[in-house]
Amino acid sequence: MTGYVHIYTGNGKGKTTAAFGLTLRASGADKKVFIAQFVKGKTYSEIKAIQNYLPQIELKQYGRGCFIVNDPTEADIQAAQQGLREIMELVKSERYDLIILDEIFIALHYKLISVEAVTELITNKPANLELVLTGRYAPDEIIELADLVTEMKEVNHYYQKGVPARKGIEF
Ligand code: ATP
Ligand code: MG
Repeated sequence: MTGYVHIYTGNGKGKTTAAFGLTLRASGADKKVFIAQFVKGKTYSEIKAIQNYLPQIELKQYGRGCFIVNDPTEADIQAAQQGLREIMELVKSERYDLIILDEIFIALHYKLISVEAVTELITNKPANLELVLTGRYAPDEIIELADLVTEMKEVNHYYQKGVPARKGIEF
């Protein structure tokens, strides 16, 4: 089956949850899934769900577990670049039906990795691999390469009313 390249971007909520929703659906069809999380390094509830109930799904984080506030550190850059190298091998291995690159656009935004490297990853993907990239600020060069692009647009968000991120809903 031909695999396509998806992008979930935009400033509204739902990018990461859409990627995990697709993971759930693909797993139900016995597809082999690998999730790579850039920048992130904490054990979010979705990761606990996979560890506890869906152990066939493989997931690895390539972040340091803290938000990048100003300039990224050398450790942020090393973690993301190591991630991209590992993912290139996993993509080539043809072991997976679906690979999720969660928050890869945040890694690009902070210049932890290059647009050229992500372009190479997409253009060299095996024909039957479904590849999903998420995060705010997807650059135009990558959008042009994708077969499906969905922009989550913030219309209302309760954080504007001061509602903090809640366990099980935001993390
Ligand atoms: P989700 O993980 O819920 O699907 P997302 O992947 O679309 O969301 P991200 O941009 O990755 O969204 O943001 C991570 C989380 O932080 C989201 O749950 C989002 O609702 C929340 N969030 C986004 N912007 C803010 C903000 N300015 N203040 C507080 N929380 C925010
Ligand atoms: Mg997200």
